[in-house]
Amino acid sequence: MKILVSECLLGIPCRYDGKAKEYEGIRQLMEQHELIPICPEQLGGLATPRVPAERVGSQVINRDGKDVTDYFKRGAELALKLAQMYGCEYAVLKERSPSCGSGQIYDGSFSGKFMDGDGMTAALLKENGIRVIGESQIQDFNNRHGIF
Ligand code: SF4
Repeated sequence: MKILVSECLLGIPCRYDGKAKEYEGIRQLMEQHELIPICPEQLGGLATPRVPAERVGSQVINRDGKDVTDYFKRGAELALKLAQMYGCEYAVLKERSPSCGSGQIYDGSFSGKFMDGDGMTAALLKENGIRVIGESQIQDFNNRHGIF
């Protein structure tokens, strides 16, 4: 199975702070599936490192107060394009990110607090029928369903 995956979870330093967020459990998926790595914020044209941003309603605003929504939208559209091109039915995306977060994201206050909601890319993928899970759900899913 082909699965779209947040690039930072694979150890690629594409995050806003120029670091990665490698997640050990992702290796289990690599053994059984073909992972398609994406970083929507880079795809959308943002630099690395970059000023951190958070969702505020339908917009994405960075910590300097700049509206970066268009970059996030473009990244989401290109991530969807890749998912469709490769026939991905599932995506494993980094939790709480304003792009990749699914179900819970940072609340726009840059204080480390969360709120219910999806990142721009996770939302667009879901709207187009792609199942999105966060990295902490990988083990549970494998336990319940065997092969993901
Ligand atoms: Fe990771 Fe997604 Fe943020 Fe890129 S946009 S650094 S893949 S969480």
